[in-house]
Amino acid sequence: MLLPQLPKYLSMAFWVLLFLARSIAFAQAKIDTLQLLHDVKVLSADSMQGRKTCTIGSKRAQEYVISAFKKHNLQAFEGSFRQFFSASAKDEPCTDAANLIGYLPGTSTDCIVLSAHYDHLGVVGGKTYPGADDNASGVATLLAIVAYFTSNKPHSTLIFAFFDAEESGLQGARVFVNKLPVEKKRVILNVNLDMVSRSDRNELYVAGCHHYPFLKPYLEKIATISKVKLLFGHDSGTNPADNWTNASDHAPFHRAGIPFAYFGVEDHRDYHRPSDTFANVDQKFFVNAASTILDAIIEFDRHLAEIKLRTPAHTPSGN
Ligand SMILES: [Zn+2]
Repeated sequence: MLLPQLPKYLSMAFWVLLFLARSIAFAQAKIDTLQLLHDVKVLSADSMQGRKTCTIGSKRAQEYVISAFKKHNLQAFEGSFRQFFSASAKDEPCTDAANLIGYLPGTSTDCIVLSAHYDHLGVVGGKTYPGADDNASGVATLLAIVAYFTSNKPHSTLIFAFFDAEESGLQGARVFVNKLPVEKKRVILNVNLDMVSRSDRNELYVAGCHHYPFLKPYLEKIATISKVKLLFGHDSGTNPADNWTNASDHAPFHRAGIPFAYFGVEDHRDYHRPSDTFANVDQKFFVNAASTILDAIIEFDRHLAEIKLRTPAHTPSGN
């Protein structure tokens, strides 16, 4: 009598286990991976022509990002998602460079600026530089983070900044930091993403803790659950050639005394080459890196009041 019933119990146990496994997998799935990959593919497609500042390809990328802002009901400062500025480059100066800025209000008015540059090198010598890793990957990750916080309200006010003219000297980030849309004392942290979609060694770096060691415990916690190797470094002066402190859009924040955490991978064979394509993105690494970055931002968001107290400008002995 027992034996014939056993398969039934086994089968019930199977369904219960399957349900639990799926629930856990669902709870971990904070990122829409198909959307993430789709965004990189579109932003690095031929039609975007390498997204060089002040070109038609740049305008197409702007439209794409702003349509995501609208879909997720981001709010605009002073009625516009675009912060226009004049960019200067050796070859072609232009006057309608544009940072794309939107925000999600939190329960606190203290802010985290989450940034990624959307420009790249354009078409050079008849060849398109698609910039899939540099930095369609950072833009797509930031859009996934927008989507997450739209349905999971943040404690902090999150400002999403997609900078222009990074490749010609961090110009968009400089303009933004010089004309912050909120009081400077409200900007507690910058998290910058630039090249996050490939690593032969499964390594993602986070730079900034050398300057702001109080950020490290939050990141160490994330490193223990990350599916990529989250490594610290590239931010001290011991080897200047290897120091990324001034290498991307976090630099103007750092110079203004605003702490930063920068996520990125080491340079690879397709860096600043026409072969930085969607096909060369490591999809598994990219999805895991994006999840790790989101987890880190969730951690920073939860603990921003604590981080603020440790920030030099906000310590009781400071001003
Ligand atoms: Zn870049």
